[in-house]
Amino acid sequence: MSALGLDVGGTKIAAGLVGLDGSAAEVTTTPTAGSGQAVVDQITGIIDEYRTAHPVTSVGLVVPGGVDPRTGVVAAASNLGWRDLDLLGALRPRLPPSVALHVDNDASAAAWAEHRFGGHGQGDSLVLVTVGTGIGGGVVVDGRVVRGVSGAGGEVGHLPLHPGGRACECGSSGCWEQYASGRALHRAAQVAGWYTETAGRDVLRAASAGDVVAAAAVAEVATHLVHGIVVLTAVLDSALVLLGGGLGSDPLFQPFVHAAASAATVTPPRRRIPIRPASLGVLAGVIGAADLSRTTTRR
Ligand SMILES: [Zn+2]
Repeated sequence: MSALGLDVGGTKIAAGLVGLDGSAAEVTTTPTAGSGQAVVDQITGIIDEYRTAHPVTSVGLVVPGGVDPRTGVVAAASNLGWRDLDLLGALRPRLPPSVALHVDNDASAAAWAEHRFGGHGQGDSLVLVTVGTGIGGGVVVDGRVVRGVSGAGGEVGHLPLHPGGRACECGSSGCWEQYASGRALHRAAQVAGWYTETAGRDVLRAASAGDVVAAAAVAEVATHLVHGIVVLTAVLDSALVLLGGGLGSDPLFQPFVHAAASAATVTPPRRRIPIRPASLGVLAGVIGAADLSRTTTRR
C-alpha cells in the first residue's frame, strides 16, 4: 500500500512515497519541463518511474492554481500554462484502473497535511496561509478541506479587503496579497528607501536590527497580514492559523506578525487565534496529495 504524492510547481516537481504516518520517502525533485502538454507528459513519466520501482496503489497530484478535486479539471494554473485542463481525464487512461488518482490545489493539500500530520493538536479546524511572493491558502473545517462550489474554497490570497485599492494581476483590485505578501514587503521597502533587488529581505534584516524606518515598513505589511487573518477567523472561528511560505515562515518576520496580532481586536465569543509557523515545510504538498489520494474514490 504505497501512496505517491506529486507537488507540481512552476519551477519544479517534488514527488515522494508517503506512509500512513505522513512520513515521506524516496523523495525526488525535478525541474518542471516548460508548460502545457510537456508538463502532463513529464508527470506521467515520473509516475511511471515510481510505479516501476514500488507498488503504488494511489497517486495524488497537486498544482498551484484553481482546481476542482471532484472533477480533476484545472481551471487555471498560470505558472504551468494550463487553462480549463482536464488533468484527471488526461492522466487516467495512462494508469491502471486499480490505481486511485486524485488532483487538488497545492495549498489545500498542504493544509490537509498540516491538519493530519503537523502535530498541532488543536482540534479539527485550521487555516494555512502561505505567504511567499503572493498569498495562498487552505482551510480545514470540522476535519474536511473547504472546497466551495467551484473548488476555489480556501484560496484566500485574493480576498478583496481594500475596495478601490491596488490593482491585482487577477484582474481585481485591493486583494489581500497586494498588501501582505513578499511582493508587498518589497514595495513597502522601496517606499521606505531600500532600492536593492532584495529590498524585502534587506528591510526585514534592518528592522530586526532596530532600524525604526524599516520596522515601520515591516509592521505595515504584518498589520495587513493580520487584518486578513482576523477576517478569515471571524468567519471560520478556527482553532489555529498556520503561516507558511518564504516570508510567512521567516523567523525575522514572526515577531512583527505577533505584535500586530496582539494589537488586533477580536469580537467575542471568538478568542485570540494562535498564529504559528506551519511545521511540514516544503513537503507539505506532497504529503497532503498522497494522503488525500488514499481516501479518494477509485476512478
Ligand atoms: Zn487579486
